[in-house]
Amino acid sequence: MRSFFQRQGKFRPLTKTDERGQDAPTIPEDLWTKCPKCGELLYTRELERNGRVCTKCSYHFRLTARERIDLLVDANTFEEWDTEIRPVDPLEFVEPGGSYKDKLVKTQKKAAENESLITGKGTINGRPIALVVAEFKFLGASMGSVFGEKLVRAVERAVDQNMPVLTVNASGGARMHEGLYSLMQMAKTIAAFHRLGEHRLPHFSLLVDPCYGGVPASYATVADVMLAEPGALIGFAGQRVIEQVTRQKLPEGFQTAEFLLDHGMIDQIIERGNIRHTLTILSDHYVGRPATAQTGYPKGLLADEPIEEEETVVVEVPAGGEA
Ligand SMILES: [Zn+2]
Repeated sequence: MRSFFQRQGKFRPLTKTDERGQDAPTIPEDLWTKCPKCGELLYTRELERNGRVCTKCSYHFRLTARERIDLLVDANTFEEWDTEIRPVDPLEFVEPGGSYKDKLVKTQKKAAENESLITGKGTINGRPIALVVAEFKFLGASMGSVFGEKLVRAVERAVDQNMPVLTVNASGGARMHEGLYSLMQMAKTIAAFHRLGEHRLPHFSLLVDPCYGGVPASYATVADVMLAEPGALIGFAGQRVIEQVTRQKLPEGFQTAEFLLDHGMIDQIIERGNIRHTLTILSDHYVGRPATAQTGYPKGLLADEPIEEEETVVVEVPAGGEA
């Protein structure tokens, strides 16, 4: 039947070997990106200029950790920490698809990262901040022993250098290939943030899509300020798993950032374009403005936008929970 249609020469689609096709200008595949929410075809360059937020419906596309850091910090201020710590295979774990060791090598090559966490420091509108950013493309940003170690070292440096810590959290949970070593990171990371608190430095947590398992079950949800991107899915176990176990239908919008805000689990939902602005205010509020920082609270996504006059800004923190 298929060959019957293929014989209909008149409407046959062009193939690479067609003479007409060879003359036609080649269009790069990634020139247009389709929005998964509203279906709009977006010009990829325009989308990138907008911080990978749909210009029609404000759908927030996922970002890589490097893209995220570029959007957050002032240009050329990011200094990465602990780039050379690499995961090992303490259990010599083998799963049906192959060994953990091989999987690590392949993933490191594919993601061009050594681990699923990138740490370092930078400035946001001149305010120094330690950054801990998860890379979801690296084994679902699962929390293994190197993830935990890099995070703890970043928090310790923040204490030494008197900086707040921003964690950008997307994760699939604990890294099962490392067994108990992975689960221990939950306690280890929490302890590090406890020390940060003892030094009266804040932890800002930004939950982005998707954030599940051991990460929201540990350090990511014990922050001083809990922020989330619109529409991000955040929870411990996935919706389907919960429905299967409890045999109950879950409410609509369950585990979205909006649902969590309504139920007092997070403080605010922030559009990607306002994150720098909000972090600037929060940093000034908790740590104080460094003498070298510019005054005023510049709005917008990019580092080089003009600084506005000083204004009184109130951070909208909605009342937690339902009355
Ligand atoms: Zn859209």
